[in-house]
Amino acid sequence: MQKLVEGIHQFQNGIFSAKQRLFEKLVEGQQPLALFITCSDSRIDPSLLTQTEPGELFILRNAGNIVPSYGACQGGEAATIEYAVSVLGVKDIVICGHSHCGAMGGLLDQPQIEKLPAVRAWLSHAESTQRIIDENYGHLSDPSARLTATVEENVLVQLEHLRTHPSVAAALGRKSLNLHGWVYKFETGQVFGYHPPDGQFVALEGISFTAPSAIRDLPPI
Ligand SMILES: [Zn+2]
Repeated sequence: MQKLVEGIHQFQNGIFSAKQRLFEKLVEGQQPLALFITCSDSRIDPSLLTQTEPGELFILRNAGNIVPSYGACQGGEAATIEYAVSVLGVKDIVICGHSHCGAMGGLLDQPQIEKLPAVRAWLSHAESTQRIIDENYGHLSDPSARLTATVEENVLVQLEHLRTHPSVAAALGRKSLNLHGWVYKFETGQVFGYHPPDGQFVALEGISFTAPSAIRDLPPI
């Protein structure tokens, strides 16, 4: 805990003073650029990755960057999504999976989560991901390639779940919202965005931000 408390002191004496005007301005409200949905994994830092300031990202995090389908779960996910879209009017939602995801690893290795009933129940919202991997990726025997495929497919499955939320469906219907599927490879700093025309994830570097990752008409999975 000492590191955390020392960090607060450093923040107050350094960063806060330097950005005091920004923090004071935020009292007036927030107009985040996007809703960013990602994993709870400590190796992922959405604001560092996107170089965004306080007030710019509305963030939803849980194990496995999962979005339960609307009505499937009495959790905070639906409320967070509804508030971001209907009240804050975010124009973009990113679901960002990541390399070496423990939750996706658990999905592939069920005995690993046998004694974790809460995790097991939570991962039931990724059951389609598991089925897609089991039935369509039998040729992938390399564990690391299999995990990468699981992370990618799960982002697509959760994007489909996202569309079942009424606020999202309505905003998509009036073309005021874009959905993006990303995978962050933290060991290299690369981010891959789902590109519907190719049906695959492509590196985002050097590509127009609207082109490869905006998913308007995601084909059925
Ligand atoms: Zn993870």
